[in-house]
Amino acid sequence: MTDADIRAKLRSLIDPELGLTYDRLGLIGSVQTTSDAIKIGVQLPTPAYPGRERIGEAIGAALSSSVDGRKIDVTYSWQVLGRETGGKIGLRIKNVVAVGSGKGGVGKSTTAASLAYGLKHFGAKVGLLDADVYGPSIPLLTGAKGTPVVRDIELPNGQRIQRLEPIDADGMKVLSIGFLIRENQAVIWRGPMLHKLLTQFLQETDWGELDYLIIDLPPGTGDVSLTLSQLLGLAGAVVVCTPQKVALLDAIKAISMFDQVKIPVLGIVENMSGEIFGRGGAKAKAEELGLPFLGEIPIDATIRVRGDDGLIGSLFEDDNPVKPHLLRMVQNVAMQITRRVLVDAPMPSLEIL
Ligand code: ADP
Repeated sequence: MTDADIRAKLRSLIDPELGLTYDRLGLIGSVQTTSDAIKIGVQLPTPAYPGRERIGEAIGAALSSSVDGRKIDVTYSWQVLGRETGGKIGLRIKNVVAVGSGKGGVGKSTTAASLAYGLKHFGAKVGLLDADVYGPSIPLLTGAKGTPVVRDIELPNGQRIQRLEPIDADGMKVLSIGFLIRENQAVIWRGPMLHKLLTQFLQETDWGELDYLIIDLPPGTGDVSLTLSQLLGLAGAVVVCTPQKVALLDAIKAISMFDQVKIPVLGIVENMSGEIFGRGGAKAKAEELGLPFLGEIPIDATIRVRGDDGLIGSLFEDDNPVKPHLLRMVQNVAMQITRRVLVDAPMPSLEIL
């Protein structure tokens, strides 16, 4: 059996998570046969791919009749799929992901920071941009401190340009208006100022090469989202809401807002699930709207305490009750981004409410 025969046997296998063929996902990187082994290099579209062992098992099963006593040796590597969404304005970022909510206080910033740290935990190159200009809380949650400076950068063609340098938070690039204003200082934003600030934060900032840039949006309003969608093509938006009915109504408004500014919704995260607000409401709503459900994060003092201490990233470093939930949410988001890159599914169009 030739390498091409082996590829032919594997190409139509279906990934259970996304319902796409291995061929479409580009999963089978290298195939090498020797007298005693069939070596397959699986290339994952994201390091946050859940259950990679299943791929090895499926490959083993598909090739079982053709091994002739040889062993099957599957190795895994990854390369994040993305559309270089920032290409229009000179960014080298594969996937720009916005995190939004219908109202404040539902844990949007906590979810955005967790998503960023979680993707980094899996090995991706990640940046975190706090665009919640009305209530920037990313500096507090990440514990990042400092003042971003403007640096001279020399381009390969010799041209010198100036770029804002994000703050380093545990090896992750973070930027927030919170680094530039005094604590407790309220800023009144006029439309053009907001537009200019976001443009600078995206276009004139040295983000470098990233797999994912996570953007924490302000709650509710659409002005920042509109500016973003004008500046770049986003991979999509994650909508965060709490499980109770009143909160779900706000989430629907957020979804409708993203719909209007043409940002595809990747799905809904239910935060603060548990005894106080109930659970399952967001999942049911996601199903009703035909949107992916991206997971539930329990209401748990661990999250609040780590957030207050600037240690949100540490949730991925030790064993704690919320870590499995956060990891699953991160994986779900990464997989929905992958799906969007491969299948240009039309956005679900909601009746404007
Ligand atoms: P938003 O960005 O929606 O305004 P935040 O992320 O700032 O909300 O969270 C608001 C407060 O709720 C913070 O004190 C945060 O620590 C807390 N919080 C968020 N999610 C949870 C959770 N799942 N369990 C416990 N506390 C949470």
